[in-house]
Amino acid sequence: MAVPKRKVSPSRRGMRRSHEALGTEAHADCPNCGELRRPHNVCRSCGFYDGREVVAAGKDAKHAVRV
Ligand SMILES: [Zn+2]
Repeated sequence: MAVPKRKVSPSRRGMRRSHEALGTEAHADCPNCGELRRPHNVCRSCGFYDGREVVAAGKDAKHAVRV
């Protein structure tokens, strides 16, 4: 619900924002090259996913062709 800006005290605003900090992004070691990669994503370093190379290493995953 919308509340007028000056009706919310700096303390109450701060208490609300105490939960707004960004958490760390999920990450895991690539089983192939050991580089950090996001879970369920193609490794940006070696292009491997699920034990096989799905993207030529070094190429952008955006232009990958599904095999
Ligand atoms: Zn890798």
